[in-house]
This record gives sequence, C-alpha cells and structure tokens, in this order.
Amino acid sequence: MKRGVLLSLLMGIGALSLTIAAQRGGPPPDQAPKVVQVDKISDNLYVLKGGGGNTAVFVMANGVTVVDTKLPGWGRPLLDKIKTVTNKPITTIINTHTHGDHTSGQTEFTGVTAEVVTQENTKANMEKLDLYKKPENAKWLPKRTVKDKMSLFSGSDRIDLYYFGRGHTNGDALVVFPALRVAHAGDLFAGKQVPLVDYMNGGSGVAYPDTLSKAYNGIKNVDTIITGHSETPMKWNDLKEYADFNKEFLTWVQSEQKAGKSAERAAGEYKVPDKYKGYTADLPPFFGGMKGYIQGIYDELKK
Ligand SMILES: [Zn+2]
Repeated sequence: MKRGVLLSLLMGIGALSLTIAAQRGGPPPDQAPKVVQVDKISDNLYVLKGGGGNTAVFVMANGVTVVDTKLPGWGRPLLDKIKTVTNKPITTIINTHTHGDHTSGQTEFTGVTAEVVTQENTKANMEKLDLYKKPENAKWLPKRTVKDKMSLFSGSDRIDLYYFGRGHTNGDALVVFPALRVAHAGDLFAGKQVPLVDYMNGGSGVAYPDTLSKAYNGIKNVDTIITGHSETPMKWNDLKEYADFNKEFLTWVQSEQKAGKSAERAAGEYKVPDKYKGYTADLPPFFGGMKGYIQGIYDELKK
C-alpha cells in the first residue's frame, strides 16, 4: 500500500506513470477504472481519495469549497462523486500547491463556475504548467492568492489559509476549517515518509523542518490533519513528530556531507530511526528519489 500511495504522488504524468503501471503489471492509468472513494470526516467535510492527492470537500451554507482536484482524467469522476455528497454548487477551489495530481481535475469541471484560490507562488507555478497554458484552461487559474495568511468566509463556513515558507514547493498552503478543527496539509505533509522536494518549483529540504515547526506552532485548535496522500487522516501531534523526523533527517544529511559521502552512498545507507514507527524512505523516482533529495540538500548547504 505504501508503495502505491507513493506512486500516486504523480507530478509529471504521461510516460513516467505509464512506465510505472507497466512495471506493476497493471493497465495503463488512463484505462484503469477511475474510482473515487469517499471518507466522511464530519457532516459537512469529506475526503475523496484516489486519482492523485486527497481532495477535501467542505459543504458550506451556500456553496462548496473543494481543496485539490486530482490528476488529469479524474476531474469528471471527482465531480460526479462530489454530487453524491451534496447538491450545492462548487463555488471555491483551493489548490494546496502546483503539482498536477492536485491541480488538473478542475479543468474538467464542466458546468462549474468557481473562484480558484492558492498561495501566490503557486499561482506563478501553475501559470507555467502546459495544462494551464491552454487558453481554455485560463479560467481555472487562481484569481485570488494568499501571501502568509488569509481567511475566506465567516462563522462556521470560515476557512483559514496559511503559508509558512518553503518545503515541498515554494507555495504550499495549509488549509484550516476552524469550526471542525481540521486542516488539509497538502504535500507539505503527504504522509509518514521522507518528503519529496520539488526544487524546480522552489522547494527546500533545508527549510522544510522549520516550515513544519512554524506550521505546528503557528496554527491553533486543530485536531485532525488531512494529508496529501495518506489513506487515513493524521492527528495534530503527528505534525510535530513529522517536523522532528525531518529535522533529524536534515541533521543526518549534514553529517553525511561532512563525512564526505556522495549523495548516492548516503541514500543507500539511510535507515528510518526505530522510534519513527510506520515511516518509510521508499521514495518513488520523482525528483531523483532519495539520492536526488539528498543531493538537493547538499547543494543548498554549499550555497
Ligand atoms: Zn506535490
């Protein structure tokens, strides 16, 4: 399962995902049935899984906010599934970051008119995506952005958006539903694993642990975290543990660099510390996998 979850962290789609599907012996992703699974978090909040990142569906008094919209080809199945939990219109879409497994589906939301909201760097990153260079998709680019903190709506509908610095990318928004004490962390906290860092989109392995600590210390009154890709939500304290895990990982990479080890050798030697139960370092090949991640940190530390 872990491997499957990680493999679903598809950033670039196409050749790579086809290759992976072929290696697994399954049908190519575009031919496999597209099944979106619904987990109810509360009476007005659902997590819709499958087809890329976890989607949150927040049903408000007069409309629906959707957080992240999955891979290309998954927009229609996602929209159909949303209609099974509410008949209210989708009015707002929040993309936690630029990756195609979180931002593509909305271009397939036929009949929907919604305002798209992201962190401001994510807006710039999305504008560079081929999918969004198509004129017909321009309407699905963010119109409203957050720099550090912003609230949408009020009362029990309120949504708080936060940005605490570079991590998975340079535009990872944390989305909080204060009335429900639930957050969506996107891929800043994709699951209990060594994180994937997208240096091309401004990510930083050096800043990552601090960004997580700032999020943990800066957000109050949250009990449950919907992650970017895990099967089940995490507890708020898992974010603290994840920050610690990443801090220790960074310290370890620094010591490997001091010892003069190549990124490749360090990657081969890394073992998840015993105290981090259920964590994995089994990264998919995106961004050079474990070796690419360690090399990225080496390069950052040299600057
Ligand atoms: Zn991502």
